Amino acid sequence: MQTKFAKRVTTASRSFTRTILDLTAQNKIISFAGGLPDAALFPRDAIESHAKTLFETQDNRLFQYSNASGVEALKVEIAKKYLHTTSAQIMLTNGSQQGLDLVCKTFLDEKDCIVVEDPSYLAALGLFHMYNVTIKAAPLSSKGVDTEVLEVLFKEHSPKFFYTIPIFQNPTGYSYTLENRHEVARLAQKYNVILLEDSPYEALRYDGIQTTAFADLLPELTIALGTFSKTLAPDFRIGWMKAPQEIISALTLCKESTDLQNSKFFQHICAKMMQSGELEEHTKILIEYYRPKRDAMVDALHKYFGDSIEFVVPEGGMFIWVNFKKCADSMKLFDVAINKGVAFVPGSVFFADKRISTYGRLNYTNSSLEQIEEGVKALYTAYREIQGA
Ligand code: PMP
Repeated sequence: MQTKFAKRVTTASRSFTRTILDLTAQNKIISFAGGLPDAALFPRDAIESHAKTLFETQDNRLFQYSNASGVEALKVEIAKKYLHTTSAQIMLTNGSQQGLDLVCKTFLDEKDCIVVEDPSYLAALGLFHMYNVTIKAAPLSSKGVDTEVLEVLFKEHSPKFFYTIPIFQNPTGYSYTLENRHEVARLAQKYNVILLEDSPYEALRYDGIQTTAFADLLPELTIALGTFSKTLAPDFRIGWMKAPQEIISALTLCKESTDLQNSKFFQHICAKMMQSGELEEHTKILIEYYRPKRDAMVDALHKYFGDSIEFVVPEGGMFIWVNFKKCADSMKLFDVAINKGVAFVPGSVFFADKRISTYGRLNYTNSSLEQIEEGVKALYTAYREIQGA
């Protein structure tokens, strides 16, 4: 009997990065492919101590059903991250991936249009496809999104939202300049387009100064997504959304029909770690630990590849977006690199139209300094081989 799956399932393809994760887990491969934090840094002792205190101080209501928008103490702490924001404008999610899904559920009807950056976050692209909408893409450079193209898309297609990752973008590591942000905000206002601002890497800044978020520049039209996945631990599955109250109410309605609520246990731990300043301290440790890894990858890329590749040094986050300009299709480089014992993500998967690309995404947070040196060297051997050198 034929299984009657929905079209969104039959037309979906498995995420390429998931496939690589499986591949690298099984084999002795140095992986620059995932977007994983370094597991050695998860703050186990602090988590254990707060968990213990929770058991000592809370009664069984801790494990009872509760409201969908999240634990008030945590919402209050998160609201402090934004200008003039109260806890009523915050809602907790099971990671920012759920936030993305809830925004789609709340705003998208079939055949609607949305705009994304070109390239963009792979799992968001996969999700948007499932909602059967038209996806338009505006080119991204190291200074931000191409606002001329964005204006044409806003004008001609009246998109429901523009999905933007303005700080340390995935996959490029690029950040919008303040000027670019202002222009994007102006266009969003002019054409009444929601800015869906996804900033999971924001706290991991190694150089430079913090810029104003869309959530503070244009609060009335921005839905901001944040997460504890990159600063605490992905397994907590805790993210949040910040938006005007009317939008939060609609999102909460959709969350109720999705999973009723987040588990409160880890929300309380997050709240305690924010109130005590431990999360901030822990983030500083992460920064001091990840910055040398970024530097090691930048140095190794210069050392082995010289000017045969191009990239912009990211000021934060987890990725370097490399233009392997002498290799017409980085998917072919990927195949050879795997055989040399190193993995990365070929650029084509991050483009909405999946076009052939010379680019590749390299992650530096989840490898040791030695693995970074060894992996980049192996990648260069593959690069030379594919050019027939
Ligand atoms: N958005 C972007 C841009 C990401 O890179 C990720 C994680 N890779 C997510 C959202 C999802 O994060 P979370 O663990 O909070 O669901």
